[in-house]
Amino acid sequence: MKQGKLLYSGKAKSVYLTDDRDTLIVEFRDDITAFDGGKKDTLKNKGSYNAGVSAFFFEYLENHGVKTHFIRMLDTNRMAVSRLRMIPLEVIVRNVAAGSIVRNYPFKEGTQLSPPVIVIDYKDDSRHDPMLNDDLIVALKLATPAELKAIKTTALAVNRHLSALLAKQGILLVDFKLEFGRQGKTIRLGDEISMDSMRLWDKKTRESLDKDVYRFNKGDVMATYNSVAGRIMKAAPGSRTTDPKKKTAPAKKSSRTKKPAAAKSKKR
Ligand code: C5P
Repeated sequence: MKQGKLLYSGKAKSVYLTDDRDTLIVEFRDDITAFDGGKKDTLKNKGSYNAGVSAFFFEYLENHGVKTHFIRMLDTNRMAVSRLRMIPLEVIVRNVAAGSIVRNYPFKEGTQLSPPVIVIDYKDDSRHDPMLNDDLIVALKLATPAELKAIKTTALAVNRHLSALLAKQGILLVDFKLEFGRQGKTIRLGDEISMDSMRLWDKKTRESLDKDVYRFNKGDVMATYNSVAGRIMKAAPGSRTTDPKKKTAPAKKSSRTKKPAAAKSKKR
């Protein structure tokens, strides 16, 4: 596959066209940002950890019936993905109160949220990603009621699969953000699922194993990413993305005929 023109460059990822109109390449760069870009750094190898973990999760989820944009890894930082028409929603699933809901609502940090809480924000930097509700999403024609239902069902399925997987490595999935896109009428998970887009706590010590280490200067973020990436991938050994010999093999794609759009991501 030949990499073509740059289509989009976000805070930590770049998306390129390819010689196949249905396939894009997502490059995970070594950049890290927080607080709407107010804090920025470039950290050697950071992109490869997030690319590897995202590929691992996408492949794991595909194998558990969740449709994603992931096709295969091209090298340590670049991933071939199906081209999607992205839906400008940030779908956040929360199992434990942390971050913005503790700042904005009277939750005590660490409170278990059961059932999990789904919060959907409008992905629009200029408006600072305001929170939506179902009526607003439909009125703004961002998604139909049926699509919204499918998005929420998928987000909860991802939560179940990843919470169980991470628990095997003593990691608590506190919260995470997903982005979705359309391939024809099919909704697929796009963007990334990585330490930049999740909150992960060590179950025993409750220490942060994610971008909060960078946001709040809690320690050596690269040491944390290196160690948590290793722990995560040990949760399902033998997966293609953890086996260097199988690294470029395509992810199992159920009943798909065409390939679809990569995601871009705004991160906090
Ligand atoms: O900041 P907040 O608490 O709302 O974030 C919830 C979760 O969503 C966190 O895991 C955070 O990393 C992720 N997130 C993200 N990109 C955003 C907003 C939130 O990855 N633009």
